[in-house]
Amino acid sequence: MNSDRIFVSEPLFAGNEKKYLLECVETGWVSANGRFVAEFEQRFAEFCGAEYAVSFANGTVSLHLATLMSDVGDGDEVIMPTLTYIATANAVRYCGGKPVFVDSDPVTWNIDASQIEKKITSRTKAIMPVHLYGCPCDMKKINEIAQKYGLIVIEDAAEAHGASFSGQKVGTLSKVGSFSFFGNKIMTSGEGGMLVTDDLALYEKIKLYKSQGMDPSRRYWHTVVGYNYRMTNMQAAIGLAQLEQVDDRIADRRRIRRLYEKYLGHLRDAIQFQGEQNGAESVYWMTTIVLTENAKASRAEVMQRMEEANIETRPIFYPMHIMPPYFEADGHYPVAEYSGERGICLPSHSRLTEEMISYVAGVVSKAIR
Ligand SMILES: *Cc1c(COP(=O)(O)O)cnc(C)c1O
Repeated sequence: MNSDRIFVSEPLFAGNEKKYLLECVETGWVSANGRFVAEFEQRFAEFCGAEYAVSFANGTVSLHLATLMSDVGDGDEVIMPTLTYIATANAVRYCGGKPVFVDSDPVTWNIDASQIEKKITSRTKAIMPVHLYGCPCDMKKINEIAQKYGLIVIEDAAEAHGASFSGQKVGTLSKVGSFSFFGNKIMTSGEGGMLVTDDLALYEKIKLYKSQGMDPSRRYWHTVVGYNYRMTNMQAAIGLAQLEQVDDRIADRRRIRRLYEKYLGHLRDAIQFQGEQNGAESVYWMTTIVLTENAKASRAEVMQRMEEANIETRPIFYPMHIMPPYFEADGHYPVAEYSGERGICLPSHSRLTEEMISYVAGVVSKAIR
């Protein structure tokens, strides 16, 4: 097995991807017009249980437009976890807004909802929870706080296709939810993104701004300064084919997480798995562990040992407040810093067999015992 490298993620194209893509080339519909874009949007809305869905070139621009269309502007503050991917913070900065960071919950590593209220000021406009690594946030508490203070909630659901909270799919638990279809996500369109919402007025505004602000009833008549954030028909072709198989891909991720629990369960004092919120059903985009103080090796050592065994790993995200664009000299986010220093994302893609996972787990346990 050592000769075959085990990657953290790998896309799996097991359905109509080639067939649909070929149709784009053969019919000439390769840009943003064509049947796959509309069909992908409609089917993704149904998958989430949302009224409307709008596709995007990638998940960062979809999050930008979700933020901008929620009227976040100059000086407005948006509360978000410090432990996330940089796109969450950048989406707010693009609008002239200010990301305001909150520490992580020690069990789920998602935004610690009990620490949101103390960050609210007269400039706070929105809360942007992130369902980290596929694990839903405490949306009940977050929505209660938002309602109490009149704030908008925008879900960054980029990593959590199909995850649910209280039986409802993520992305639909707030005003607008944003997804990504980058190549390493649970389903991919190469690059790609999607916004879902139940709000018709917001949906129409998003469509207008996404496509150069062109009046839907008058071609080449532009009513606002919009963007070209469109997904191509080729992206949508792959995305639609992936959506047709997404339930299987989610089942794969859940199977992988259970197998890691089986093979690493005896190390419970030395490693901590990402935990689940009450009422949440995670899709485990990545099985992620944090090494505790009882681990007999540092993260760098463990990752080195895994590399030597031809296993790719990746560190958990660095917290936003320690990186140059969002650096806070006096930032104090102990849980996010702890996970950020000690967290490892394990190989989590659909092609992994039980044998491969037991091999990975064996290397991890030998390194830390
Ligand atoms: C992947 C991701 C995005 C969007 O990324 P793109 O690569 O632009 O599609 C946004 N937020 C989070 C948390 C992500 O993981």
